[in-house]
Amino acid sequence: MQMYNFNSGPSILPEYVLRKAAEAITDFKKTGLSILEIGHRTTAFIDTLQEARQLAKELMQLGPDYEVLYLQGGATTQFMQVPMNLLGASDTAAYCDNGIWGTKAIKEAEIWGNVNVVSSTKDKNYSYIEKVFAIPDAVNYLHITTNNTVEGTQWHTIPGTGQTPLVADMSSDIFSRPLDFSRFSLMYAGAQKNAGAAGTTLVIVNKNILGRINRNIPPIMDYRKHIEADSLLNTAPVFAVYVSYLTLKWIKEEGGLEEMWKRTKQRAELMYAALDSLDIFTPIAAKEDRSLMNVTFTIENKNWEDEFLELCKEHGMIGVKGYRTVGGLRVSLYNAMPVSSVVKFTELMSMFNDRKKK
Ligand code: PLP
Repeated sequence: MQMYNFNSGPSILPEYVLRKAAEAITDFKKTGLSILEIGHRTTAFIDTLQEARQLAKELMQLGPDYEVLYLQGGATTQFMQVPMNLLGASDTAAYCDNGIWGTKAIKEAEIWGNVNVVSSTKDKNYSYIEKVFAIPDAVNYLHITTNNTVEGTQWHTIPGTGQTPLVADMSSDIFSRPLDFSRFSLMYAGAQKNAGAAGTTLVIVNKNILGRINRNIPPIMDYRKHIEADSLLNTAPVFAVYVSYLTLKWIKEEGGLEEMWKRTKQRAELMYAALDSLDIFTPIAAKEDRSLMNVTFTIENKNWEDEFLELCKEHGMIGVKGYRTVGGLRVSLYNAMPVSSVVKFTELMSMFNDRKKK
């Protein structure tokens, strides 16, 4: 049976990536060794790592001030590592609280310094994004989550921050659209959605914001040490980095972020058109803030939810259940999801709608 993987992450990967990764399990770059056995300081691996770092920069059109790091510990570790590197104990950082991941980032930052929550949409269960807020003077940075994976909202316009460095958790929409990435001072993303497989985290940082605070940072947590070591401070997550390299290569060969953006819009337009036209389905997120990556919605009668999920399963469509704090349903439409799979899903929604409205 053909499978349609709507999981939120780890999630669907391009067929090309899976095939190449499988080949490397038996023989990595004709070394006669598996990628799982190869040393992280071999030329074969170092070349891959450096190419992946370069590809990320190229796709994002970033200049020499930026460094790309492949780290470990997931985006969750960045909730701690960002303030550890950028927020002194008596300094203040501004955070936007637009979803459960942003809330977690705030909690971690509070351990390292002061946090000023400049906007929160908790009042409506994070179903929208508050775009009008003031950034106080003299904060070290503003932190946003560009796409709220759980709630299904997304920043469609990146907020202006003047002189204040902008830091973003891009875990669930990195590489899905072209942006002026030079407006961000630091971006991070767990690779397991649009940038590869679980096991590594991309951190893309403007070197100029580092070293401004006075704290003893353990080397493994210090971005500067990772930069000095060309992202090879310790044993790299070799396989995960290789899968990320393949994913970025695939993005480039498909036409880069412009092409990803075209597909992103096509997929999301199809999904929201179905949700807006079929009586029994209702999108959760406020219209202007709807995520183009993670689409959250409910069914008119809660008792129909399990029946619909069962129908999805029968058709090989998995990962459709919503996150427990939001409820309802969610489909994730990452880069590797073919537009034709979204068409199939909307046909199933339509069929279910007709069955219930008979
Ligand atoms: N931030 C966002 C926006 C996410 O969607 C996730 C996971 O889904 C995380 C952070 C946590 O990432 P990780 O599991 O890599 O720590």
